[in-house]
Amino acid sequence: MSATARITPRGEDRIRAGHPWIYRSDVREVTDASPGAVVRVTGARDKVLGHALFSDQSQIVLRMLTRSDVEIDRAFWRARLEAAIAFRQSLGLDATAYRLVHGEADLLPSLIVDRYGDVLVLQALSQGMDRLTSTLVPLLVELTGARGVLARNDPKVRQLEGLEQKVELLHGEVPPTVAVHEGPIAYEVDVWHGQKTGLFLDQRENREAALRYARGRVLDGFSYHGGFAMRLAPVATTVVALDSSADAVARIAHNAAMNGIANIEAREANVFDELRHLERENARFDTIVLDPPAFARNKAAVPKAIAGYKEINLRALRLLEPGGCLVTCSCSYNVDEAMFGQVLYEASVDSHRPVTVVEKRMQGRDHPVLLGVPETYYLKCFILRVVG
Ligand code: SAH
Repeated sequence: MSATARITPRGEDRIRAGHPWIYRSDVREVTDASPGAVVRVTGARDKVLGHALFSDQSQIVLRMLTRSDVEIDRAFWRARLEAAIAFRQSLGLDATAYRLVHGEADLLPSLIVDRYGDVLVLQALSQGMDRLTSTLVPLLVELTGARGVLARNDPKVRQLEGLEQKVELLHGEVPPTVAVHEGPIAYEVDVWHGQKTGLFLDQRENREAALRYARGRVLDGFSYHGGFAMRLAPVATTVVALDSSADAVARIAHNAAMNGIANIEAREANVFDELRHLERENARFDTIVLDPPAFARNKAAVPKAIAGYKEINLRALRLLEPGGCLVTCSCSYNVDEAMFGQVLYEASVDSHRPVTVVEKRMQGRDHPVLLGVPETYYLKCFILRVVG
């Protein structure tokens, strides 16, 4: 008898609507399934609805892999990975670092694979993907020719699956830093310890977009390794790059020097405090980038997050010259585009600065959004112009 999960009519509706997650309350019965197993999913009258990854810990008990009754074997995984890789190749990205697999959006739920040159960095964020890692890694190596594969299985969400948080080498070798480029900018990436898998790959296209409007005195708040600062430096007179992490600030200085960029001043600072300080000093900027960490990691944190977004955007608008540009982001999934737009509107009203929306953007194309699965749309990026 094979592993089976029987779900409720409401669960069936969710699957029909295209959402791959089935919560505990919609699962009637699970038989013969060990943690992380691939299970057959059945509905009313034992009709087979497809196959899914099973978790015995998470509230998300099932993650649908397919709505067909097919064999989930090596050939299945190979085809899914091939499709994900072929899509990235088709994008013609001018970068050697990009996302190869974006979980649900590649029909590989809870699997992240980022490419940094000839190194792959993987995150298996469910029991199912954790268990499948030994099947997927040889396939990934075969399909990409990677010389090393690192598991950055340190995200907190693994706790929800009862999985250990750990970083481990899965294949070949992964050096302490990997050299990559994004457009004209070179990076040395510490994939072992850097935030996320090393870089914020999801902002690549927003950095390019910002370049179309940036000029003059630029302020890059929440700079991390200087992604926006370095891309905008050639069109700026000066760039002030802020980050609260001393490590990040050291890295910005190092990256700027490596790229022969001389007009970036990297400072260790809390953006909230620094914006207040700059306002007191009557400082003015022509371009400001705000790319904070996710302020709302869960629903309960939304009101506080909104207040935080409002504060930094309001202060940034006050610091901008008329005609100035604000590139402002939110990567909180729990604050959706409409809510973020409302925050920006309120910041505009309270700062008495009329603002136009020049572009409304999201995460890069290598991090696609699966329609009907709002969880895959997390990064919002508005490019605003202060008109008066
Ligand atoms: N803009 C970057 C990514 C930013 S990630 C890029 O394009 O690559 C968010 C950064 O904000 C992290 O580096 C984190 O150290 C920093 N940070 C978090 N809270 C902060 C605060 N209050 N003030 C300044 N930096 C902060």
